[in-house]
Amino acid sequence: MASVTQSFDAVVIGAGFSGLHMLKSLRDKLGLKVRVYESGETVGGTWYWNRYPGARCDSDAYIYCFTWDKQLLQEWEWSERYPEQDEILGYLEHVAKRHDLKRDIQFNTSVTGAEFDETTNLWTVRTDNGEEVTARYLIAAVGTLSATNMPQFKGLEKFKGKWYHTSRFPQTGVDFTNKRVGMVGTGATAVQAIPEIAQQAKQLTVFQRTANYCVPARNGKVDPEVIKARKADYEGIVKRIKESFFGQEHYFIPKSALETTAEEREREFDKMWDAGGFAFWLANYQDMFFSQKANDLCADYIKRKIRQTVKDPVIAEKLIPKGYAYGTKRQPLDTNYYETFNKENVRLIDAKTDGVIEEITETGIRAGGIVYPLDIIVFATGFDAMTGPLKALNLKGRGGRTLDQEWVDGPRTYLGISIAGFPNLFTITGPQSPSVLSNMPVSIEQHVEWITECIEAMRKTEKTTIEATRAAQDQWVGHVNEIVSATLMTSANSWYMSANIPGKPRAFLPYLGPEGVGGYKKKCDEIAANGYEGFQLA
Ligand SMILES: Cc1cc2nc3c(=O)[nH]c(=O)nc-3n(C[C@H](O)[C@H](O)[C@H](O)COP(=O)(O)OP(=O)(O)OC[C@H]3O[C@@H](n4cnc5c(N)ncnc54)[C@H](O)[C@@H]3O)c2cc1C
Repeated sequence: MASVTQSFDAVVIGAGFSGLHMLKSLRDKLGLKVRVYESGETVGGTWYWNRYPGARCDSDAYIYCFTWDKQLLQEWEWSERYPEQDEILGYLEHVAKRHDLKRDIQFNTSVTGAEFDETTNLWTVRTDNGEEVTARYLIAAVGTLSATNMPQFKGLEKFKGKWYHTSRFPQTGVDFTNKRVGMVGTGATAVQAIPEIAQQAKQLTVFQRTANYCVPARNGKVDPEVIKARKADYEGIVKRIKESFFGQEHYFIPKSALETTAEEREREFDKMWDAGGFAFWLANYQDMFFSQKANDLCADYIKRKIRQTVKDPVIAEKLIPKGYAYGTKRQPLDTNYYETFNKENVRLIDAKTDGVIEEITETGIRAGGIVYPLDIIVFATGFDAMTGPLKALNLKGRGGRTLDQEWVDGPRTYLGISIAGFPNLFTITGPQSPSVLSNMPVSIEQHVEWITECIEAMRKTEKTTIEATRAAQDQWVGHVNEIVSATLMTSANSWYMSANIPGKPRAFLPYLGPEGVGGYKKKCDEIAANGYEGFQLA
């Protein structure tokens, strides 16, 4: 066993948006001695790993960035509405350089375990290069969509061609020219990648398990006058997104879809459709997530659009989502997605009508008894969302209890920041916080600021440990589940519902609070102001 070589005030795991901001805050605001561990070879997290063709953000870039560096908000110029992966990575590299963050980050190093020592009240953190360090505070900035989900397809090892997962795409890219490519999955990532790959490949065969409701991204250059106006109003924008429901400048129409005339509804739907991005998802009628009838009206509009766009009615029918409410899965943004299925070199194999993937053979994929010959397979099968990267840390809290033991029926946290029995552990955008249901930088900043203030308060009052009480945690878990059970979110077999991973207990992973991100922040701030209600400080 390696011996402890160094001790830190705080160890932060991960160097994406969350880890970078956490390091900046603890080191430069509080003056703590911090070590960040990162599996990747540089900063960026999501934007370091996800290099598939078409990878770009779906949040509008002017708010998909840090808001704590006011000067950078003014200086930075995004090239388009939703910049590509390399541009966002470049932005995060720039932030790291500007704030001299890399000197405290150890790259190419994965945390493989961490144990809380009840006698010293310190965490011992182990890494894959045999290092062992101690820290008072342990902050998981491991991301929500960072643990790759690679389903165990029978026969994959026999495949003679090349295969890739979108979340671990080669840095050098992949040349699809003249290749027969198979794409497995039709989630948000696949919707970005399919039109791009179809332009290069000789033939693209898309294997669809569940059809998705896609809405247009409407990417492009942003009008310089709009950019100027936004820069002039950044203070207002930041305030609004922090107080908003989804961390975006999207607001529900304060009306039931059922109280409108068909003409009025069509006008509103057209407006959202033309605006592109998350407008149709997050600025729709207020009962869209609650009333099946209201939801059906929104869903029908998209279904009509699919039928209008896809020329072959048989293919269009396969692309029409069935059996779950609109908006209950992560909204994919589409740039020529449906149009791509009009191309002669693209075919769609739908699990429901053509048969499920049975196995991977030496030469391709067999589905519904037919082998589709392929040179390259791309798996866009997503992530073990939210709980996956946390469980992989092999944490041991009080009494040596693990997350596997604590989370048998799904995650249990207090506010998504803290877990009972795991003192001084903070989880940025952890399960049961708004997290993936928001524009993530807003939620990341809120957690980083809250954690920083909490640690500062502990140091001022000479407290050594903070941990959620079981009672507060139980209440929070009950609250999260009660709120979501009143919505249509539970109707879908989505990754939000943990349904994409066989054997993962069915549980809603984020928090869909009654007042969204803004209300959640208010709640967290009140808890802090009331002496960290629901936490035990010692
Ligand atoms: C393709 C894609 C597109 C997205 N688009 C949007 C969008 O448009 N809007 C939006 O709000 N969100 C989007 N997201 C979500 C995105 O993950 C967040 O916006 C944000 O990047 C999260 O930052 P993070 O630092 O919390 O996590 P990440 O960026 O995931 O970083 C976590 C880091 O932790 C490291 N790590 C994990 N475990 C360990 C370990 N044991 N040891 C060492 N290091 C470890 C990982 O290597 C990773 O680098 C997208 C996600 C994906 C995958």
